[in-house]
Amino acid sequence: MRITVLSGGVGGARFVSGVRGWARRDAAAQGLPDDDAHDIRVVVNTGDDWWLAGLRIAPDHDSLLYSLSGQNDQDRGWGRRDETERVASELQTWGVTPEWFTLGDLDLGVHIARTAWLRGGVPLGEVYRRLGARWQLGATLVPATEDEIDTYVHTADGQRMHFQEWWTRHRASIPAVRFENADIERARPAGEALDAVADADVILLAPSNPVVSIGPILGIPGMRDALRAASAPVVGVAPVIGGRVVRGMADACLTAIGVDTDAAAIARHYRTRHAGGVLDGWLVAEEDAASVAGLTADGIASRAVPLWMRDADTSATLAGDAIALAQNLR
Ligand code: GDP
Ligand code: CA
Repeated sequence: MRITVLSGGVGGARFVSGVRGWARRDAAAQGLPDDDAHDIRVVVNTGDDWWLAGLRIAPDHDSLLYSLSGQNDQDRGWGRRDETERVASELQTWGVTPEWFTLGDLDLGVHIARTAWLRGGVPLGEVYRRLGARWQLGATLVPATEDEIDTYVHTADGQRMHFQEWWTRHRASIPAVRFENADIERARPAGEALDAVADADVILLAPSNPVVSIGPILGIPGMRDALRAASAPVVGVAPVIGGRVVRGMADACLTAIGVDTDAAAIARHYRTRHAGGVLDGWLVAEEDAASVAGLTADGIASRAVPLWMRDADTSATLAGDAIALAQNLR
C-alpha cells in the first residue's frame, strides 16, 4: 500500500514512526522484509524553516529525520542524541545566534550540509534525499514546497516576528492574532508532494499542529485542490484529547485563529471533502466519543480510539486504526 502522511515535527514524527511500525508489523505477518510491504511518503511542513547564522534551519524535517533514524535525543524530546554544544556556545558568545535557540554541534553539521547544497543549487527535495540516504528511515520525506514560506506571527501588541521567535523564545506566551506564511501566494507544491498525494492509496493527516504544521501545507496554492482530487481517502488524527493538546502549546495557535481546542472543532476547521475541505475521516480519543455521531452526520466519518502515542506499540496501533478507517472509506 502507498501511504502518504502530511506532517509537522515532533508530534508528526511520533505518528510517522507509528505508521512505519504498523507497516513493519504487517510485513512480518506476510513474511516480508521490514520495508517491503508498504511505501510510506511524508509531506513535510516547511513553514517552520528559517535562516539563522547564515544557515537554513528546518526543524520539522530534522525532527522527522532524527526520530526515524534513531538519532533523536529521547530525554530532551528534540535534537540529536550524544549532542555537544561547543560550536553553539562560540556562536552565542559572538552573538550570532540568540541565547534562546541552541544549535548543537551535530545538528549544525546537518544545517551546514543543507545550506551548502541549497547554495549550490540543489533542490530542497534532493537535499531531503541526501540527508535521508544516510540512514534506513523506512519512509521517504518530501518537502511540501521548494519555495520559502516561513511562518510569521502577528501579535496582539502589534509585533510581527518569525514563528521560531514567538514559539521558542516567548513560548507562545504573547497572544497571537494572525499567522502569515511569507510569499505563500507565490509558492507551489513540490512535484514529489503532488505525486505523493495523487498516487497514494491512503492519505493521513498526522496529529500535528493544525495551524502552524498542517496549516502551511494546506495553504500552498494547489495543495487543497490536489487533496480534493486525490482518489485516496483522507483520514486525520486529532492532536487534542478531552479538550487539551497532548504535548506542547498548539492551543495558543488554535485560539489565535478562533478554533476551540477541541477534537471536533479541529475536524470542522479542516472540513469534509464533500464541502470543499480535506477530510473524509477523523479519529478522536475515547474521551471525545460523544462527538463521533455529529461529525459523521456532517460528512466526516469518525471513530473514537486510544489517541495517546505513549510508545512504539501504541503509536503503531493508532496508525493502524487510521489506516483501517481509510480502507473502510475506499
Ligand atoms: P511540532 O512541529 O514539533 O510542533 O510537532 P507537530 O506539529 O507535528 O505536532 C504537535 C502536536 O502533536 C501537538 O499539538 C500535540 O497535541 C500532538 N501530539 C503530541 N503527542 C501526541 C499523542 O501522543 N497523541 C496525539 N493524538 N497527539 C499528540
Ligand atoms: Ca513544527
